[in-house]
Amino acid sequence: MRVPFVAANWKMNKTLPEALDFIEQIRGKLPAENNVESLICAQSLFLSQMMTAADAEPVKIGAENVFWEDAGAFTGETSPKAVASLGVNYVLIGHSERRNYFRETDEMVNNKVRAVLRNGMKPIICVDETMGQRESNEKVHWVVSQVIEALKGVKAEDAAKITIAYEPSWAIGTAAASAQQAEDGCYLIRQTIADVYNDACAEQVRILYGGSVKPSNQAALMAMPSIDGVLVGDASLDPETFLELVNYDA
Ligand code: PEP
Repeated sequence: MRVPFVAANWKMNKTLPEALDFIEQIRGKLPAENNVESLICAQSLFLSQMMTAADAEPVKIGAENVFWEDAGAFTGETSPKAVASLGVNYVLIGHSERRNYFRETDEMVNNKVRAVLRNGMKPIICVDETMGQRESNEKVHWVVSQVIEALKGVKAEDAAKITIAYEPSWAIGTAAASAQQAEDGCYLIRQTIADVYNDACAEQVRILYGGSVKPSNQAALMAMPSIDGVLVGDASLDPETFLELVNYDA
């Protein structure tokens, strides 16, 4: 059984006091982690303080990015080994904003996925599809190839630790994909994992939909058979809305 997963992506938002205040506001109001797993991915610079503040809570704290080398002369980068040393469980990899603004390629994404796993953490691999690709009906190949490239060299026994987030960039911060569009993308991703590994593996991997998720559209999305959860940007910044999302009515 795949536990439903609600993951927040705060992006480059919030200061340390704001992040700690958020944790105070959700304290004691989160679902048990075997009912719904909840996660907040935040800026790396205050992950440590957030982990301490949320220590007794079921919510997990994750990073939004790491570099692929553990250490060395890479000024300004964030070491996956250092992030793992904080006790962080999850790392977002390959978000469309990283692919677009920071020119992350599939090869870089794959290196980062392997670095996260090597350091005992779990990657949430974001795969994207642009409006141009959707309109030209190219989306199938695009999403499939991003999944295949991201998983290169990842052993089947590690595949269960992976979460994939289907995040069409035309739906981020705009209007969500319909539940059926989201289901189609997530179904295709699970088929691709079955092709890369096997059916048993594909049944274990959690697949999330991301793009303008709100409490009002979440239940319809999560009712879809291939969708195990949601990755939420904007709506996750407000503590009350985050609580609605993690305590959603199935
Ligand atoms: C995201 O960028 O990961 C995301 C899902 O953003 P939003 O919910 O704001 O569309």
